Amino acid sequence: MGKYDVIIVGGGPGGSSAAFRLTHAGAHVLVLDKARFPRYKTCGGAVPQSILKHLPFDFDHIVSAQVAKVHYHLAGRSQVCIPTADRPVKMFMRDKFDAYLAHQCGAEVRDGCTVREVTEETQGIRIVTERGEVIHAQYLVGANGAKSVVARQLELPRARRPGGAIEVEATVSSHLLERYAHAALFEFGAVPNGYMSYDLILHDLFVSRSCCINPPSHQIHAKAVQAATRAGTHHNVARFQVIERLRQLALA
Ligand SMILES: Cc1cc2nc3c(=O)[nH]c(=O)nc-3n(C[C@H](O)[C@H](O)[C@H](O)COP(=O)(O)OP(=O)(O)OC[C@H]3O[C@@H](n4cnc5c(N)ncnc54)[C@H](O)[C@@H]3O)c2cc1C
Repeated sequence: MGKYDVIIVGGGPGGSSAAFRLTHAGAHVLVLDKARFPRYKTCGGAVPQSILKHLPFDFDHIVSAQVAKVHYHLAGRSQVCIPTADRPVKMFMRDKFDAYLAHQCGAEVRDGCTVREVTEETQGIRIVTERGEVIHAQYLVGANGAKSVVARQLELPRARRPGGAIEVEATVSSHLLERYAHAALFEFGAVPNGYMSYDLILHDLFVSRSCCINPPSHQIHAKAVQAATRAGTHHNVARFQVIERLRQLALA
């Protein structure tokens, strides 16, 4: 039997919330994450109250915005605006959200610690880290995201068609701010097999994500690379495109 009851590989929201539940049920839990927290993660960061109510922490100081309505655009042709149900959806930047959850979960958390090998043994599980450290536990939780080392090592079924996403931050004008403050915006038809989304993350900073589900995720990457090559700097071009696109949608 190992020192720990449970090892959780991955300290994102999945790993940290599992760690919180297990620790409060009396288990001795170790969370391992390859990244150093706070770490960046491409994500919309929208978390409804129905999820937050399961985590008894005060999130107010890390909320980046609150969304009370969602605009949906279809290929620039039609649009609808739907208010969120009774309460606004809270938006978070994942670096802050994940670091806060990992800090609050009550388990021992080791960041900057990559898991390389996972083996099932008769008495539990054995993991080996990148630094060659061997750790035993009775149970294992694989919460290590889309390219899961746990799923790979234990030959668990995995999604066959990964998607792709890019994220860009851009400062916008007061006119666009007025229009889209407290709103999130989804645009379908702008990228193949996917969508673009926009939302406010700070007082004047919009974040835009381009998500492509299913191949050809390489197409959005190719678009970003083309833009980068043309302008020399990927980020400036992408920022300009976000602002332009928001302007066009506001006029539509
Ligand atoms: C563009 C985009 C927008 C999204 N918008 C939203 C949204 O608005 N709201 C929402 O609820 N969800 C959204 N999602 C989904 C959300 O991001 C995921 O569901 C969520 O991150 C999954 O959490 P997780 O803890 O399972 O995994 P992750 O958050 O991916 O965390 C996995 C962790 O495992 C660690 N790890 C990986 N490999 C190893 C290893 N070998 N050893 C140790 N650690 C390892 C990583 O460093 C990482 O910290 C979005 C996703 C994308 C791509």
